[in-house]
Amino acid sequence: MECTIIGGGVQGLSTGVLLQYLGHDTTLVSDSVAYIDGPDIPTVCTDYAAASVYPVQVESEYSEDDLIRQAEATFEPFYEADGVPVRKHRHYYVYEEEHPEPNPARMNVQDATAYDGDIPSRSGHAIRGGYVCKEYFVEMPEYIPQLYDAYLALGGEVERRTVTPDELDAFRGQTVFNCSGYGSRELFGDESMKAVKGHILQVPYDGQEPLPFSYTYTPTDYTHYAYMYPRKDTVLFGGSYLMGDMHDGEWTGESPEQPMTIDGETIPERLYTVNKDIMSDYVDVDRDAIRAKHGFRPYRTKGMRIEKDGNVIHNYGHGGSGVSMSWWSVLRTVGYIEDVGEDVLPELAATIGETATA
Ligand SMILES: Cc1cc2nc3c(=O)[nH]c(=O)nc-3n(C[C@H](O)[C@H](O)[C@H](O)COP(=O)(O)OP(=O)(O)OC[C@H]3O[C@@H](n4cnc5c(N)ncnc54)[C@H](O)[C@@H]3O)c2cc1C
Repeated sequence: MECTIIGGGVQGLSTGVLLQYLGHDTTLVSDSVAYIDGPDIPTVCTDYAAASVYPVQVESEYSEDDLIRQAEATFEPFYEADGVPVRKHRHYYVYEEEHPEPNPARMNVQDATAYDGDIPSRSGHAIRGGYVCKEYFVEMPEYIPQLYDAYLALGGEVERRTVTPDELDAFRGQTVFNCSGYGSRELFGDESMKAVKGHILQVPYDGQEPLPFSYTYTPTDYTHYAYMYPRKDTVLFGGSYLMGDMHDGEWTGESPEQPMTIDGETIPERLYTVNKDIMSDYVDVDRDAIRAKHGFRPYRTKGMRIEKDGNVIHNYGHGGSGVSMSWWSVLRTVGYIEDVGEDVLPELAATIGETATA
């Protein structure tokens, strides 16, 4: 079938790879393509994803545990495939205060209070709540270019341009996959879209292997957590979620709690102070060497939209979960035109890995 995909983020590229793999004839139209056109384009959220396979800040009809199971199940084949940069490491989701809520259904989850290994913590503070689990983690600077290469190798075509609402009529004769993220606010008049600002601090790292763990850490003296994720040549500090909207290219929204400036970015200070305290044993946290940037999570207050409307199949609004839920979402959207299930993923993952090796 002839299809147009609007959007060159993780949803658009994953959709393109699956459709081409299934033998469809697709063109991906996007004003920019994640990583390929640079790792720092504010309208392309995928450039900013950390990216742990764990759904956060997303509205949906499914329970958190269901989303976790779907995200983990659909990423497992990519972890298992040779040549695809998806790792599995230990994750500490911990609190300095007691946390009586039940643990979510994550891989190998166990209560932090029953864990017999060391848990990273701030000096002078103990961990009193939370859990330890395993987590898939995607090395985005390699993974996204792999998806792009696989898409082209499978015969997909790319056009770089902005689609305007007036133009949508021109696509009437074909199936359109809308993966335009926050762009759907303007393109499809979806006012329920919000742009949730998030910062990432990139700390240089020169270890032989990426650090074998990550954490989400809630300190007693701040209202929100800070997190750390290890990449091959950087360690990422993050954990800011500032609700807002974009008007004429300008973002307005919440201000950071206890702001401080690093590398020209005004961030909530805990991203630096809490993470520096915990991580100084593992990496040299030199404030002047840190590179900071911010992106905008495409959060939809009405829930992520995976829905067919006429000739348009929508796939957007994943907030802070767009990488985690990418294969699950893509299977569902492509399912509108062809019967396809999770059993396609191992072969598809192998194909992506082979493209990268070639
Ligand atoms: C700091 C930060 C950390 C994050 N960490 C994680 C994480 O650990 N795990 C996780 O799962 N998620 C994470 N996310 C969220 C994740 O990045 C997003 O959910 C995901 O990237 C959204 O992908 P997308 O393809 O829907 O949108 P985008 O990546 O924004 O792609 C949209 C595409 O559409 C194009 N476009 C838009 N409008 C038009 C138009 N009119 N015409 C043509 N092209 C158009 C854009 O150029 C872009 O290529 C994080 C986000 C941030 C900001």
